[in-house]
Amino acid sequence: MDLLVCGGTGCQASGSSEVVETFKKEIEKEGLENEIQVITTGCFGFCEKGPIVKISPDNVFYVEVTPEKAVRIVKEHIIKGRVVEDYLYKEPETKEVLHEQNEMPFYKKQLRIALRNCGFIDPENIYEYIAVDGYQALGKVLTEMTPEKVIEEIKRSGLRGRGGGGFPTGVKWEMTRKSKSNQKYVICNADEGDPGAFMDRSILEGDPHSVLEAMAICGYCIGADKGYIYIRAEYPLAIQRLRIAINQAYEFGLLGKNILGTGFNFDIDLKYGAGAFICGEETALINSIEGGRGEPTVKPPFPAQKGLWKQPTNINNVETFANICPILLKGADWFSSIGTEKSKGTKVFALAGKVNNVGLVEVPMGLTLREIIYELGGGIKGDKKFKAVQTGGPSGGCIPAQNLDTPIDYDTLTQIGSMMGSGGMIVMDEDDCMVNIAKFYLEFSCEESCGRCTACRVGNTRMLEILNEITEGKGTMEHLDELKELGQIIKDSSLCGLGQTSPNPVLSTMNFFWDEYVAHVKDKN
Ligand code: SF4
Repeated sequence: MDLLVCGGTGCQASGSSEVVETFKKEIEKEGLENEIQVITTGCFGFCEKGPIVKISPDNVFYVEVTPEKAVRIVKEHIIKGRVVEDYLYKEPETKEVLHEQNEMPFYKKQLRIALRNCGFIDPENIYEYIAVDGYQALGKVLTEMTPEKVIEEIKRSGLRGRGGGGFPTGVKWEMTRKSKSNQKYVICNADEGDPGAFMDRSILEGDPHSVLEAMAICGYCIGADKGYIYIRAEYPLAIQRLRIAINQAYEFGLLGKNILGTGFNFDIDLKYGAGAFICGEETALINSIEGGRGEPTVKPPFPAQKGLWKQPTNINNVETFANICPILLKGADWFSSIGTEKSKGTKVFALAGKVNNVGLVEVPMGLTLREIIYELGGGIKGDKKFKAVQTGGPSGGCIPAQNLDTPIDYDTLTQIGSMMGSGGMIVMDEDDCMVNIAKFYLEFSCEESCGRCTACRVGNTRMLEILNEITEGKGTMEHLDELKELGQIIKDSSLCGLGQTSPNPVLSTMNFFWDEYVAHVKDKN
């Protein structure tokens, strides 16, 4: 029997390490340590109900487990075989007690591809990764497939970059492969910086080998023998698990020289970011790895042509890499059968804000916002009225109730004035002031602007000044016109994605919640 205890950052913050210790102590007391394993896993996603404990093979899912509850679970479930119903998930409306993970509304519509091993394996044990087909894709690629064939398969799958841009991954790999150079690089962008987003952190904490394996495959395809993972230093647990995974992969001959005896060499190093949001932009990230200021540079040339140390470089984010191995093992047709016409596969969202079930969900592209917020998310806290959902972080927009039934993918989100971004999804209720929400995101962009372009540096600061005046009751209708005009100028004249999208939260709230802006201005009279 296995006791799988969530050891992601969220559950650790709620005391899961003490739960693990208690289970181990109690099991030892009962003399069962040879029969029962206590395994610390990555995040199960259901952060609202953490710490989570899953008992396998019984398939029983305990929520909000404390050390005291762990003692009772051992005494009743482990020793007497009696499920402790008090500690199971109860449906808030029907009060129905649910034993299994897949019965819960939070999980029912999820399809876990990138998160497939999170909450399922011990991320610090390479044997557990190998037991779930880990490193099989790398073996298959190195022994049976040419780089061109792998790239073709990734192209056919329709996988698009999950970091925000949505650029086709296979096309990016092909561009880097075609760039002529003796030295090329693979970079994994783990500089997740959107407020409320923790998709990449959870993948690295729960399944680090999946990213290492995909990076090695990418290296083989583009002709690189060196990879870097650029990860923010504020992710200590992800860094610790990555370090363990990298060491294990070297020990098993899955990284380093002559991988699997095929003559292919690939090394991976970690590089730490100091928490600047702009370093998630690929050219700023490259500058930061090279030891320069984390400032974007003009594109073209694109990193695929001239990237790290001026050599062709392929950059993908964590979630994109986490999709690679399943595509190569199950086939492009399988992957492209999931999702919508132009957005294939699944997307991981970090569901946060005024929603009952805060956590991490992975759903097929094309699910509606209503399904995500009301079914998986369990609706709005305190039965309040939904007002808006912010997607795409500070680059995105606020989507109002009238768009709740829009099937979401890269293109539909853009059409309704927001964007996919990296997958942050913050829900707001009737009590939230949309002008204040816009101000919060603009403050973030002002703080995180690298200051290189006048439009972004000065323009955003002026927009923030206007918003402050409006919320302090000193605003006028002319201020609202100025906001719109400035927002458009900043979008049109900024160098990088941060500046080009920073006015979005203001412009989208002005578009959908104009009355609130007018009310602020009129209230002062
Ligand atoms: Fe820096 Fe803003 Fe210009 Fe981007 S748009 S380069 S963040 S000043």
